[in-house]
Amino acid sequence: MCAPDVDVAVVGAGIVGSAIAAACLAAGARVRVVDPDPGGGATYAAAGMLSPFGELEHTEPVLHALGRVAVAMYPRFVAGIPGGAEACAYEREPTLLLGADAADARSLDELNALAGGSRCASAAADGATRPPDQDCAPAAAGVRWLSSREARSREPLLAPGISRALLAEGDHRVDPRRLAAALRSGIGDRVERTRAARIARNGAGRVTGIELADGRVIRARETVIAHGTGHVDGVDLGGAVRPVHGDILRLYAPAGMRLRHTVRGRVRGRPVYLVPRPDGTLVVGATQREDGDEGVSAGGVHALLRDAIALVPSVEESRFVAHSARARPATPDHLPLVGRAADGLLVATGTNRAGVLLAPLIAQAIAALAAGDEPDIDIGPLDPRRFLGARKHGASDTRDPEPRIFEGAHT
Ligand SMILES: Cc1cc2nc3c(=O)[nH]c(=O)nc-3n(C[C@H](O)[C@H](O)[C@H](O)COP(=O)(O)OP(=O)(O)OC[C@H]3O[C@@H](n4cnc5c(N)ncnc54)[C@H](O)[C@@H]3O)c2cc1C
Repeated sequence: MCAPDVDVAVVGAGIVGSAIAAACLAAGARVRVVDPDPGGGATYAAAGMLSPFGELEHTEPVLHALGRVAVAMYPRFVAGIPGGAEACAYEREPTLLLGADAADARSLDELNALAGGSRCASAAADGATRPPDQDCAPAAAGVRWLSSREARSREPLLAPGISRALLAEGDHRVDPRRLAAALRSGIGDRVERTRAARIARNGAGRVTGIELADGRVIRARETVIAHGTGHVDGVDLGGAVRPVHGDILRLYAPAGMRLRHTVRGRVRGRPVYLVPRPDGTLVVGATQREDGDEGVSAGGVHALLRDAIALVPSVEESRFVAHSARARPATPDHLPLVGRAADGLLVATGTNRAGVLLAPLIAQAIAALAAGDEPDIDIGPLDPRRFLGARKHGASDTRDPEPRIFEGAHT
């Protein structure tokens, strides 16, 4: 291979690619990033919840463990960006998880049980209802049950009649647009506004850099694909990444009508969240659509407003500022694709609903691999080759059915 132009070429300047580039730079690497629209992908829409508990679902215990590690990395991560925590509106206010009716409350019981707490006896019985404010079984580590009265005394704007509430002290928030912009400002003119067309390889099949849409080539010792739902010829992820679109709203809440906590809830089974920002912005999200439509769904906007108002009636007094829709990079097993895909090629995508949360963890792991080191964090379950056929993977599915949890990782 001719001498590389850089140590690391990164395709994609969303939150993930930007965090990786910043981590590689901090490790002393020469870095180049390419993206025709830096920060314009899923990162542009994201609410910025750093919410390992709130995101916990039946299929994602590994993601919960990763999320807890990542949320603990955040203070150091944001301290390292230009302007620090203030520049990206990083706030460690806890999250309130609410259930509007008895069925919604049972979903909270499920979440609590999944995180290691106990199930309420009443929740286990089919169709059982529980009177509001009844105490529940022990909460999982890091969360606690609140009666609806306690929830409303913490957050007076909540609607009366919330059936159940959990307080997640460890679920925080950040403004992803500002965080990505701050990361990019640290990367400076190493970001080029151009598209990567294909992967360049040498005769032995090693990836040697990227060919750009304008015909130029960037030769790199390591190439990192962090293109979200994008496409680069020659990168085979086994068709694992699909776009899941989300509609999301930005409102402005006047003084006196601002939330302190991030509020996540279910209203007749539909999830909705409200994320306040220090400047009065209130982010209300988000739908999950697989219809491939890149526009904003009118039905989605309607449902989000209706459900947000059901949890926090004063939302009706807010000013409507903007709506947007973007595609989350989702995978069949809900886990990201992070790690080595080929000689000279690293991949970091598939973060679905948790890319902002996981960005510091992914960045640290990829920067370590790019430097030829073992990551401090076990990213084995995130192997980007796990959806390739047996022929390419070398054996039948080599995934550990009970992936090791990521306790004790360096933060
Ligand atoms: C409505 C919504 C709400 C969300 N809320 C949250 C949340 O609260 N918390 C959370 O953790 N996550 C959230 N997410 C998920 C989060 O936004 C994503 O997981 C994350 O932004 C993915 O980051 P990324 O950098 O991989 O992708 P992106 O932000 O999509 O960036 C990919 C970049 O790659 C570029 N690109 C693509 N193809 C090429 C190419 N060929 N050459 C060069 N560049 C290319 C694109 O232009 C883009 O800028 C949300 C997502 C949505 C849609």
